[in-house]
Amino acid sequence: MSSNQAIIFDLKRDCSEDGPGIRSTVFFKGCPLSCVWCHNPEGKSPQPSLSFNAALCRPTECGSPCLDKCENGSIQKDQAISVDHLRCTSCMSCCQVCPEAALTPIGREASVDELLYELLIDQPFYQSTGGGVTLSGGEATMQMAFAAPLLKTLKSHNIHTALETCGYFSYQRFQAEMLPYLDLIYFDLKLIDDQESRTYTGQSNRLILDNFSRLLKEAKDKVIPRIPLVPEITATKKNLAGLAGFLRKHRMSTCILMPYNPLWQDKRTRIGRKTQYNRSTFMSSAEQAACVGWFNSLP
Ligand code: SF4
Ligand code: SF4
Repeated sequence: MSSNQAIIFDLKRDCSEDGPGIRSTVFFKGCPLSCVWCHNPEGKSPQPSLSFNAALCRPTECGSPCLDKCENGSIQKDQAISVDHLRCTSCMSCCQVCPEAALTPIGREASVDELLYELLIDQPFYQSTGGGVTLSGGEATMQMAFAAPLLKTLKSHNIHTALETCGYFSYQRFQAEMLPYLDLIYFDLKLIDDQESRTYTGQSNRLILDNFSRLLKEAKDKVIPRIPLVPEITATKKNLAGLAGFLRKHRMSTCILMPYNPLWQDKRTRIGRKTQYNRSTFMSSAEQAACVGWFNSLP
């Protein structure tokens, strides 16, 4: 793949949750973190990957052509079809013969021009609602060589640009290549304790917190911090009070608390990824209220 090509796994139009106005959101493949509660687990791998939706599979009706198509023995049939994702090389041959779309690729290559063509279709809606384009993922900064020229081109069309980021990136490159072309940055803060960050996201929080501090020094008006509320992990009194103290130290008066959403679990099953975190219910209003209280509980 050249830097002119990105790997994306979704392009959602008509979004109203990823920034102001009506927006289109581009989801980039690849993320440097491995959050145990990740709600876009299909975006973790930087390469296209296979999804198997067992609920759509009809082996009796279709005659199971996928079995012969897979040369790696990743697809097996016992009572039902199953996929061994560890053996899968993501060749996507099986997707071509599956008539039910039970086997589908996650991720496709796209050039700046191709994406631009899709994104500009909704330009009238961006302009009439104060909307624009949001880069999300995965983590768009992992494909900076592509994301930067995309942002630059969007700005040349006078389109509002936003980024949703986990904050784990090379600041120097980000500052030089992406920051000048961004109007808004949703910066996720998860865990204030470094050991807990390593345990639950797979990475130290040092780079993330340093990047946040540096960004505030030169572009504070572009940054909105967000905290995902994950019961028993980020949504604890100790963590939320600690993050509130960090934000107060930086004189940030705005922060978005995002209640836990369990709808990612089916996606994990389809891509064969296991996780130690299995809460399957939404947060109650009482749990959310407790989080707000903890966040405001600084002495
Ligand atoms: S993507 Fe390729 S290797 Fe993976 S299950 Fe399908 S045919 Fe087999
Ligand atoms: S081709 Fe598709 S629908 Fe048919 S058995 Fe394979 S996965 Fe199931």
